[in-house]
Amino acid sequence: MTVPSTAQEIHLASRPQGFPTPGDFDLVQAPVTPPGDGQVLVRNLVMSVDPYMRGRMSDAKSYVAPYEVGKALEGGAIGEVVASGAPGFAVGDHVLHGLGWREYATVDAAQAVKVDPERAPLNAYLGVLGMPGLTAYAGLVDVAGLKEGDTVFVSGAAGAVGQVAGQVARLRGASRVIGSAGTDAKVAYLRDELGFDAAFNYRDAPVAEQLAAAAPDGIDVFFDNVGGDHLEAAIASFTVHGRAALCGAISVYNATTPPPGPRNLGLAVGKRLTLRGFLVWDHEHLREQFVREVGGWVADGRLRYTETVTEGGLAKAPEAFLGMLRGENTGKALVTF
Ligand code: NAP
Repeated sequence: MTVPSTAQEIHLASRPQGFPTPGDFDLVQAPVTPPGDGQVLVRNLVMSVDPYMRGRMSDAKSYVAPYEVGKALEGGAIGEVVASGAPGFAVGDHVLHGLGWREYATVDAAQAVKVDPERAPLNAYLGVLGMPGLTAYAGLVDVAGLKEGDTVFVSGAAGAVGQVAGQVARLRGASRVIGSAGTDAKVAYLRDELGFDAAFNYRDAPVAEQLAAAAPDGIDVFFDNVGGDHLEAAIASFTVHGRAALCGAISVYNATTPPPGPRNLGLAVGKRLTLRGFLVWDHEHLREQFVREVGGWVADGRLRYTETVTEGGLAKAPEAFLGMLRGENTGKALVTF
């Protein structure tokens, strides 16, 4: 195929103040760089939009370097190799890499992982079988130490991570799985399609009230994607020795002043709670086990998932990202080119 000399990429135009706007992104025509030794040139086919990207748009000190204003954004993507300067990578191979937000990416082969479209749909490597899936699995298995018989609460349960977390809990023997989400359609999806025992819309009534009603005997494990009122409600509902895997706190990602902490944190003492934050990249050792176990459940239909795919190419990516932050996605939010 002919490789163009220039192609589109999306730059950070400005650091968002509060909720990001379309004006924080710039669609730019940039040169396509041929691959050097040890590199591949990739034509991207699908890219991921993720909550952590909001954090990288800010220059606050964090666990990962901020995006630079005036430079292309980055993120998970899958594409087809169109030129290769790296042994082991051939034209036509499909690779997962970290240079999304652009039509063509010149990627160091060391940062690219070959994926097989015959084994699973390409999109799944960015969702249920990729980073979000491993996050759910590691959070429950490694971080929260899920045990058979646990009552588990998952916040943000209809998202990319949450939909996997709730089902892994069920399939690994939780006695009751409860989920929260922001629309009635998502709540129905959790209950009717994913087999959650109970689910509620956090916009309907205070989370603490709805959680107490859904888990009258309390919860043993909390998988938290949301933070804020959800974390406070979980602390109130925890049984003695309750364990929280703190995965994310999306309810505060756009806050312009630091939000107050859980007002009932003092309960953690008497209940002997474990509240443990984690990052997926510290749990690589679980990947093989995750692919075997979760891949098996996906293949035999016991673990289901959905995706929200924005079609129409790179220009649609900012809107897909903003839509994800607004809660318009169910399951993994993706953009196809
Ligand atoms: P996602 O859940 O697919 O998408 C984000 C969802 O967040 C939206 O669909 C929306 O759903 C919800 N949301 C937005 N604003 C909210 C608010 N104010 N209160 C409650 N819910 C809100 O995203 P994801 O990729 O699966 O990520 C989920 C969480 O995991 C995020 O916090 C992310 O940062 C975290 N994460 C952590 C790691 C790690 O290594 N620790 C790795 C991946 C992801 P509703 O309609 O339900 O509001």
